[in-house]
Amino acid sequence: MNINKIAGLSLACSTLLMSCLNQNDTSIVVTDYKCRVQTEECNSPVGEEVGNVVDGDIYSKFLTFTSSATVELTPVKRSRLNSYTLVSGNDEPLRDPASSTLEGSRDGQTWKLLDKQSDITFLERNQSQEFQVVTEETFAHYRFHLATNGHDILQLSEIKLNGAWDRNDKHPIAQFKADQTAFFDKGTVQFQNLSVQGDSYQWYFEGGEPATSTETNPMVNYVAHGRYPVKLVTVNNQLTDTAFYDAFVNVKRLGGWEHFEYPHINFVNTTLGGNGDLYQELVPEPIELINKVSLDVCQKLYRSVDEVNVLKILDYSIEDIETISAKGGNPPHINIFFSSSYLKNKKGELSDKELIAEIIGVLYHELTHGYQYAPKGAGGYQRGADYFGLIEGVADYVRLNAGYSSYDYRKVGGHWNDGYKTSAFFIDWLHTKDPAFVYKLNQSAQTIIPWSWEAACQSILSVSVEDLWNEYQNYLKTEESI
Ligand SMILES: [Zn+2]
Repeated sequence: MNINKIAGLSLACSTLLMSCLNQNDTSIVVTDYKCRVQTEECNSPVGEEVGNVVDGDIYSKFLTFTSSATVELTPVKRSRLNSYTLVSGNDEPLRDPASSTLEGSRDGQTWKLLDKQSDITFLERNQSQEFQVVTEETFAHYRFHLATNGHDILQLSEIKLNGAWDRNDKHPIAQFKADQTAFFDKGTVQFQNLSVQGDSYQWYFEGGEPATSTETNPMVNYVAHGRYPVKLVTVNNQLTDTAFYDAFVNVKRLGGWEHFEYPHINFVNTTLGGNGDLYQELVPEPIELINKVSLDVCQKLYRSVDEVNVLKILDYSIEDIETISAKGGNPPHINIFFSSSYLKNKKGELSDKELIAEIIGVLYHELTHGYQYAPKGAGGYQRGADYFGLIEGVADYVRLNAGYSSYDYRKVGGHWNDGYKTSAFFIDWLHTKDPAFVYKLNQSAQTIIPWSWEAACQSILSVSVEDLWNEYQNYLKTEESI
């Protein structure tokens, strides 16, 4: 979802609902922000710009290739701060701010010192630390001077401002939420107006019926598939404020696979004349095969073509390397390599038919990585982490479900986070509890933050992952003894 006018903090706010905007202690909605290093703009990589500190997502971060920076935040109206929260980034702790100076200003010219911290230490990644502010004054602008302990890169996930709006500032704040924002084929959306200090409202619902409304809490029907923006203008006297969310309502087609967008495949066999000849012999039409598997992977992970994270470019190469296969990058552009020496080594023990099945099976696994959701806040890509168990488990499950693995490999023991076959067979068994389990599991990686097996199993089946795992182990033991 792209948020144009209102920066992300308002999103975090809308989930907290009334406590957020109407009471004394509130999240201060920031609509304007900038980052400076002396007189220069901050030097941030694409996707890690300063706006990420107010997007309400602790798993997206701001980064600048400098040891210090000034981050200036302008809320929708004047406010008095009670505290502020800093959230550390996702990697290298040396990039965390070690010191912070906070100032407030009425006019953007004269600044007053509100708080100063040195020796800030974050003990964890994506960790929140709250700092109290003691002031009776209200300010229109805030700025933080942040500095690392000398490290030449600075990063931070979030800055949250907590306090109360200045009642003398009559500017309205436009804000809303809805009872649902994504559904199949058609649906009715009940909008809830969360605006502050508004006397009248003008809504715009592109693709909806009605297309406009002046009601406070309108109900809108959507009957055609698409992603639609919603705009709310809140007015009092001469003052207005606008909240605009791009692609706020998503009406998905159930199925719709005839509209599936195949990736553009750049296929290269780098070892022709060597080990790569065997691949060519076994798979004379690689692009046809990759297309077929891409569609099938998506049909196993999603219910609608509109849910798929579109993969535009796939670089697929056959190379002489030790690792069997791996995927790099993220949609819309990924790369996968497959080892021709691995294939050659297997030729002794497997028939040609089995070799082709191995190529296709590995392709299912890697393409699943290209299309599945990566869970947020579930640890990193390391054995034992929830992240690893989900990513590798789902990839091997899709392979198994496509018929390119064998139940002969299934055995008692292990852990649900082992990934690969162990997690795949567990996911497979979980379909006896819910036939749509893998769909819901993949969706949960988007909706549950931070993601964990425990949270996902509780949300899908209302049972703890440990109880499910124990039941599954007992089932395997009975199977083995038969
Ligand atoms: Zn994998």
